[in-house]
Amino acid sequence: MSGSLWVAWAHAELMKSVSFWDVKETAKGSWLWRKLLKLRPLAASFLRTEIQNGESSYFWTDDWLGTGRLIDETGELGPRYLGVPRHALVADVCESGVWQMRSRGRRVFPDTYDRIENARRPDESLGRDVIMWKHDDGIYKDQFSSARTWDQLRIRGHEVSWHHLVWFPQGVPRQAFIVWLAIRDRLSTGVRMRSWGLTQGCVFCGERDESRDHLFFACPVTYTIWTTLTAHLLGASANPDWTITVASLLRPNRPKLDTILLKMVFHSSVYLIWRERNSRRHQGPCRSTHTLIGQIDKAIRNRISSLKYVGNHKLAGLLTRWFEVYSR
Ligand SMILES: [Zn+2]
Repeated sequence: MSGSLWVAWAHAELMKSVSFWDVKETAKGSWLWRKLLKLRPLAASFLRTEIQNGESSYFWTDDWLGTGRLIDETGELGPRYLGVPRHALVADVCESGVWQMRSRGRRVFPDTYDRIENARRPDESLGRDVIMWKHDDGIYKDQFSSARTWDQLRIRGHEVSWHHLVWFPQGVPRQAFIVWLAIRDRLSTGVRMRSWGLTQGCVFCGERDESRDHLFFACPVTYTIWTTLTAHLLGASANPDWTITVASLLRPNRPKLDTILLKMVFHSSVYLIWRERNSRRHQGPCRSTHTLIGQIDKAIRNRISSLKYVGNHKLAGLLTRWFEVYSR
């Protein structure tokens, strides 16, 4: 990943030689980039740097002492008291094995100062610093593992009621991720972007306030998509309200196949509506409601086929059931 064109572009265009941790959240960059910036506090708790030559680790914003980021410890006063600039690299602060810090810093931040004094010095003969990713409590490795990371997140975050609506065996990870963000109301909708000085109405109906609740599915256009696909499964209990929709999907007393299908419709709808919203916002192609419904139906059929529930598998009737509850 570090050698990819995308990373090079992000360095040149978005970061401008500032630490990733200090990049300001603006409208610049793709939706994914802005999302990555928002996830920084979470990522920071998994990352640690092992100092070698100290030339790729930021003194204040990388965890190179194994005790967290120094800037979180001292606040913005730290750089001034220690006389170390905010964007300094660890290598910049050490000359011939001697740390170059103001002695005034020792009086104000004695513990921090001591820890730095006792830390291993950067050495140019050692090569690049090593970025370590947390695999478990106290265990760091120089490779990223999504499985180990997910385990830790899962243990840390308590089981929430919507857990089963986001993560289920028939789900598609990229869709589940968007649903997860939607449930936590973390999608960058117009209402959220307004705090950064941008105005964005609904690209489907023109409503001024584009919020998560409007998109799913208070908007007349997306509500048409949702009710067309769930007419049989939800019937009269369909509702444009987000909270009521989520609660009704979590209702336990529904046949198993219908529960799975409803979650699949929900995931595909949220994902494809969000993708269409981004496409329209960036002057991409504009698909009709009819086309979108067709795409969601196709996504569900393709997913069920790929699961290969055949013979006497207990979910073998999933595709047949989908054809029963939804036919174009
Ligand atoms: Zn709308």
